[in-house]
Amino acid sequence: MTDESPRVTLTFDNGPDPHVTPRVLDALGERGLRATFFVVGERLAAPGARAMSERARAEGHWIGNHTWSHSRPLGLLQDDDAVRREIEQAQALIGDLAHRERWFRPMGGGGNLDERLLNAAALDTLRSGGYSVVLWNALPRDWVDPDGWVERALAQCRDGALLVLHDTSTGAMDHLERFLDRAIEIGVRFVQDIPPACVPIQRGEPVRSLDGLIAPAAGGRR
Ligand SMILES: [Zn+2]
Repeated sequence: MTDESPRVTLTFDNGPDPHVTPRVLDALGERGLRATFFVVGERLAAPGARAMSERARAEGHWIGNHTWSHSRPLGLLQDDDAVRREIEQAQALIGDLAHRERWFRPMGGGGNLDERLLNAAALDTLRSGGYSVVLWNALPRDWVDPDGWVERALAQCRDGALLVLHDTSTGAMDHLERFLDRAIEIGVRFVQDIPPACVPIQRGEPVRSLDGLIAPAAGGRR
């Protein structure tokens, strides 16, 4: 292992899934790797699901909030209360499984990093709740191409990459072990730390411009 090893952070979104999450945990555990799981509230509420996230937490993984229903990007919701519920209801259910940084990942509705991600109501909620927002910079699109994503993911394993995968039942995770082993073979060092460049809001405070991530103010409201 040299200093030139690219450091790559793994995140798994949209779970927990009763058939997939345990296999992802096995694959990570066998290789001594730790990741962050951004869970969807409704999925965490399903019978038996919480035990999977409890296992993840117990095995040293971090749990973040990926909205309650994962239905539409928050910036497209007109109803401020609905925006608040998407964030807070999920966080309440995650409860003591949450990482102390209160990681929150907005849904991109297909991975889009744009003004649909957040709006004023979302920002208010994230600020007052002291959340840290985690975006991404490597998206191999495993959900679109469940059999072909591995090559793209390997190509995206540059230093500081924060990779988004999905512990859902698309079949993509059938290839997770192959991906991990090949990445390790080519010198990738998987780390759990979230790269600061992917955290525009830390503990409720914007640490860089949110331009391009938040809907423009409507009607002079903000
Ligand atoms: Zn998602």
